[in-house]
Amino acid sequence: MKYDVTSRGDEASNEIASRICRELGKHSLTLDEEEPEIVISVGGDGTLLEAFHYHKHRLEDTCFVGVHTGHLGFYADWMPEEANQLIIHIAKTPFQVVEYPLLEVVVRYQGESTPDRYLALNECTVKTTEGSLVCNVDIKGETFETFRGDGLCISTPSGSTAYNKALGGAILHPSLSSMQISEMASINNRVYRTIGSPLVLPEHHTCLLRPLNDVSLQLTIDHKSVVNKDIESIQCRVAEEHVRFARFRPFPFWKRVKESFIGE
Ligand code: NAP
Ligand code: MN
Repeated sequence: MKYDVTSRGDEASNEIASRICRELGKHSLTLDEEEPEIVISVGGDGTLLEAFHYHKHRLEDTCFVGVHTGHLGFYADWMPEEANQLIIHIAKTPFQVVEYPLLEVVVRYQGESTPDRYLALNECTVKTTEGSLVCNVDIKGETFETFRGDGLCISTPSGSTAYNKALGGAILHPSLSSMQISEMASINNRVYRTIGSPLVLPEHHTCLLRPLNDVSLQLTIDHKSVVNKDIESIQCRVAEEHVRFARFRPFPFWKRVKESFIGE
């Protein structure tokens, strides 16, 4: 089996990453940074997001597992002291794979025919660099509302515990193939009106954001800021692709939520 190991880059993560690399090599697995079947990310969620984006063109052929070295590590569910156990698991046991939904984002530009397409593991956010975001929100081809406020966040179920949660969005189980739209400080008064509640949309329901004011937008996909030019529209929907995580032991989503946000 071919594997890759990525590290957050701090001393502790580097040490664990090189140990995993060395040990897997001894078990006659092959290091392949470009076409791994399993990617072991050592660090936190940010490290796993990096690894996901590096390998996102081959999601069907690879799966991810995270080792946690400090910080939250919602996606990284193995502790550093369990690294040896994980190595043996990877080397010796056929593992289960669980699939989580992703978000597809298609950005179209004014006077340009080629759109950009992105995949997000956590979310896409739309804000402005200055002033309020004013945009039409179409759902399934029908105008739904005109949003005015700081911005919008469109998240995946596994990203619902990230930025979305801070915006008062619900936590969604990743078995729900869906996306959630949550508002950032919408302006609501006699003149302007938005729904005010987070919306959960199923597969095939698109959400199209059409900016109305002439401000430069700031778009993020997970940990990266991606574009800031003349955007005509941003279209979001549940992607056809999935992310695959290697599962060597049960770790139910709700247990992960409890441990991350409530504690022991
Ligand atoms: P970061 O600033 O380190 O991330 C913020 C926190 O979110 C970290 O504690 C991170 O965990 C955690 N996190 C990431 N994905 C998560 C998930 N799916 N569920 C629960 N917590 C999660 O930056 P980053 O590590 O590059 O992560 C980028 C993410 O930060 C974005 O995708 C966005 O969701 C989130 N973010 C949140 C806010 C907010 O809550 N107000 C604002 C901006 C961005 P680790 O410490 O393990 O990395
Ligand atoms: Mn981080």
